[in-house]
Amino acid sequence: MFCYKSILFFLFFILTPFQSLALDKQLEANVFSALPVMREVSSPFVEPERKHFKTVSARIFSRFGAYRSTYRKGHLHSGVDLKGAYGEKVHAIGPGQVFRNYWIFPNRAVAVLHHLPDGGAIYSAYVHIQDIKVKEGQQVDENTELGRLFNREEMRQARYRSPPHLHLEIRRSMTDNGRRSFSAMTMSSLMEYCLDPEPFLRSLMQK
Ligand SMILES: [Zn+2]
Repeated sequence: MFCYKSILFFLFFILTPFQSLALDKQLEANVFSALPVMREVSSPFVEPERKHFKTVSARIFSRFGAYRSTYRKGHLHSGVDLKGAYGEKVHAIGPGQVFRNYWIFPNRAVAVLHHLPDGGAIYSAYVHIQDIKVKEGQQVDENTELGRLFNREEMRQARYRSPPHLHLEIRRSMTDNGRRSFSAMTMSSLMEYCLDPEPFLRSLMQK
């Protein structure tokens, strides 16, 4: 068990920078053409009032910047954790393009690139999901199912003591291929790549 995990971890660190460089160039070349602007954000879960901030905020049980003892002990939480049901379906928060399906040990993740009304672009990243339904380059919106939360058995295997949840990140950049998410020890290091999702969501959701 130990060896297997060590080898996977090693391969992850060695190989991902090379994959991401090639992909960044290729995708960024065609990504800025036909994407709609994301003027409004929806909850990643299909539920009543999913465009209202209170719907998402009611699910938050761990905030951005919180202390983490897993992976690199003491790193800061890079997103918000949203409570869900076992196996609950996860959707994009708004229109965008799947930038990358990636793997943050031991979790699968999807990053979606969005254009914003101010002319900027951000990524939303959905971490700890399974049965990923989308491909890199695919255009998505709030009705697109990206995957689902862990079921009971997957939660047990991942050794999470928390309830089933989605780790949702809002990112400025994916050039680290998601690695800063479990290794930032200071807020300045974290915020080179990640934004606090709460003010971001509040700004683009109904009050
Ligand atoms: Zn989290």
